[in-house]
Amino acid sequence: MFPDSNPIEKPRMSCPPHESCPHCQKAEGLCVCAAIDPIDTKTTVVILQHPQEQAESLGTGWLTHCQLRNSVLRVGLSWPSLRRLLEQEVDMKRWGVLYLGSAKDTPRPEENPLLVLSRSGERLASAASILRSLDGIILLDGTWSQAKALWWRNPWLLKAHRLVLNPPSRSRYGKLRREPRRESLAVIEAAAFALARLDHRPDLEALILKPFDLLVDKLKAIPAQKNG
Ligand SMILES: [Zn+2]
Repeated sequence: MFPDSNPIEKPRMSCPPHESCPHCQKAEGLCVCAAIDPIDTKTTVVILQHPQEQAESLGTGWLTHCQLRNSVLRVGLSWPSLRRLLEQEVDMKRWGVLYLGSAKDTPRPEENPLLVLSRSGERLASAASILRSLDGIILLDGTWSQAKALWWRNPWLLKAHRLVLNPPSRSRYGKLRREPRRESLAVIEAAAFALARLDHRPDLEALILKPFDLLVDKLKAIPAQKNG
């Protein structure tokens, strides 16, 4: 059912145990607060973060939450329902979850940047109208196995539409992370990609990614500093 790769896998590098910034929660040398500029979006983003992901200094779930006013981040393993989690009435037919699997057939990204799948992995012909009707999207933040655990421990996720991103380009993490699949993106990249299309605002992608771009720049500078 799921591929063996991790769509939100983190870079395989360790950071020195500096004290973290209290705002962006990044290690001392990796603070990206200067680039955080909270943005309003029509589509709500709910980030379910695996408890062990909190200790991951290169994770982007918290950064995503900082960057999006209309977002909710919850740390834990399971919740009884989205309604209980948000403490408001929700219509699960108007929510999508970023699915961990992939489509049986993947069309050209330019034509279909966002796919909606049936439970059997077929692309739905009604994707466009479903995407137009969404109130929000749910992102799972953790390693592949952590995200899979979140998926199975929250059966209410099955009531949401399964969304699969079909981006034309690779993750900006570049060589900092192992990236087995083209569509493997950091959580903030996934949010930026999806929101730009759901809100019909192409400018959103670059705006949301500003702190991530700074993080990548800082990460890439680490080996250079050591060498110099
Ligand atoms: Zn900071």
